[in-house]
Amino acid sequence: MIDLRSDTLTRPTEAMRAAMASAEVGDDVYGEDPTVRALEERVAELFGHEAALFTPTGSMANVLAVAALVVPGQEVLCEARAHIARAELGAHGAVSGLTMRTWSHPRGGLDLAVLEELFAPDLGPFFVRTAAISVENTHNFAGGTVLGLADLQALRAFADDRGAAVHLDGARIWNAHVATGTPLASYGAVADVLAVCLSKGLGAPVGSLLVGSAEQMDEARVRRKRLGGGMRQVGVLAAAGLHALEHHVARLAEDHEHARLLAEACGVDPATVDTNIVVHDVDDAVTFVKAAADAGVLLSAVGPRTVRMVTHLDVDRAAAQRAATVLAAL
Ligand SMILES: *Cc1c(COP(=O)(O)O)cnc(C)c1O
Repeated sequence: MIDLRSDTLTRPTEAMRAAMASAEVGDDVYGEDPTVRALEERVAELFGHEAALFTPTGSMANVLAVAALVVPGQEVLCEARAHIARAELGAHGAVSGLTMRTWSHPRGGLDLAVLEELFAPDLGPFFVRTAAISVENTHNFAGGTVLGLADLQALRAFADDRGAAVHLDGARIWNAHVATGTPLASYGAVADVLAVCLSKGLGAPVGSLLVGSAEQMDEARVRRKRLGGGMRQVGVLAAAGLHALEHHVARLAEDHEHARLLAEACGVDPATVDTNIVVHDVDDAVTFVKAAADAGVLLSAVGPRTVRMVTHLDVDRAAAQRAATVLAAL
């Protein structure tokens, strides 16, 4: 089986397992795990922020990141298919007591004229106040699309003019970085708080981080414990993340190449495939997914007529070519 359902499906390599096995550890709730501290310092430095905080999942990183910027009774704006809006099971409302309004963009991107209409300044007891704007880069459900740095910088200026914060869901920011050559610190500079993920294309088994100021991270550390996310000798997982940052970032370019190969096979214009995700329209997604599975290729149905395929560390060139042959036949 060639598994293209998600880049979360990667399994740790032998070298990553060796790094995990030999990690120095301590109790991270006491702040005494040297490997977690090294990972948090490394990631903060990569994005040019003061501090970072390790979390078990990207969803928890996003919940803590948005809660660092939006208090109960305020709102965050995001794109309609954003992970925070669709795939976190309502956590931002259920846990953090905030509301969301969304805009729609065909490629999961930004249109400041639309945002201008949507944005609600603090006018007293009339409207929910917009405290933050959230963007996703790359955008998962829009097909791994990249938000360009110029758009992000324009958003930063827009938010600054209005006293609002910017959250960047960078679960796949590494893919955007490799696809465009934009330095990670440039992405860091446009956001107040970012969430980044180690267990997608980077191939670590577990782990995300939020990144921001030291004060925001101190508060997020308390909220993380409240949610049950204070972990103990978690350096074994942080070691996987450090290994991934060292060895698995540059190779994402191969995943992007493989995604274009799959796109071509499906009749999707490869020029619309920015990174490692291909979204393809079919007559009936469930039937298509079943036919592909019968031929040895696993995909996801992400809408009634939409399938998604994701390339990753465990799909080499030969596997991508075999999958392309199967998809072309279908
Ligand atoms: C996967 C993902 C997350 C985090 O998901 P978890 O499964 O909770 O780790 C966050 N944002 C985006 C865009 C994602 O694709």
